[in-house]
Amino acid sequence: MGRTTVIGGNWKMHLDLASATALTSELRNRLGSHRGAEVIVFPPFPFLVPVAERLRESAIGVGAQDLHTEASGAYTSAVSAEMIVSSGCSHVLVGHSERRAVFGDEEKIVAEKLSVALAAGLRPVLCIGETLEQRQAGQTFAVVRSQLDSALGEHTASALSDLVVAYEPVWAIGTGLTATPEQAQEIHASIRAHVADHLGLGFAAALRIQYGGSVKPANAVGLLGQDDIDGALVGGASLKAEDFASIVRARQLR
Ligand code: PEP
Repeated sequence: MGRTTVIGGNWKMHLDLASATALTSELRNRLGSHRGAEVIVFPPFPFLVPVAERLRESAIGVGAQDLHTEASGAYTSAVSAEMIVSSGCSHVLVGHSERRAVFGDEEKIVAEKLSVALAAGLRPVLCIGETLEQRQAGQTFAVVRSQLDSALGEHTASALSDLVVAYEPVWAIGTGLTATPEQAQEIHASIRAHVADHLGLGFAAALRIQYGGSVKPANAVGLLGQDDIDGALVGGASLKAEDFASIVRARQLR
């Protein structure tokens, strides 16, 4: 299956301007002409423009970590899709578990954000995943299916052609715990099968599904070696250029 590996680096609310630009320059040196995988970094809002400028005409894309549903107006502190596009971004995270848990982004808001991102021409990375309690209650499959259904809604396969899904079990994010490659593969395969039921086999076969949750150089080869794991969304390990670059190259090592 010819799906290009896609590796995202979610910088969350880390770094300052000097360390963000230094990290960007190092990433450009290491990965700026890398062709084996699609690479995207997701810096905090204030750093989008300087990061995008430093990555112009490189193989590394830039995305925002969130967006607001409105295009403009009296929404103090919010950032619209149009602002993100005009800052040089190609991608945006939608529904990250920290947005859902900390900022109260409910499924309806996540669905709206996905629609707004698509309408603005941003490529959305839709994050889904179960909490530890949901996993222990045997609800993992039901939770990810309901998150998919609610976010993808009535969109057609062609409207979703740039979609990337990131399966991120909440209990594995920032905790050092990782799903085993086999556990992750099982969920990824079920996500692909569910998407196939709704959007067709061709769409599902081409859909890239990232795994996220404490991905590091040491576990990346095993995870990315699974048939239905097409990349990784990386938090902590994306803040060290050396670690992030070795995750980007991991699929070629399997
Ligand atoms: C994330 O931010 O999406 C993530 C998976 O973080 P970490 O790699 O630190 O678990």
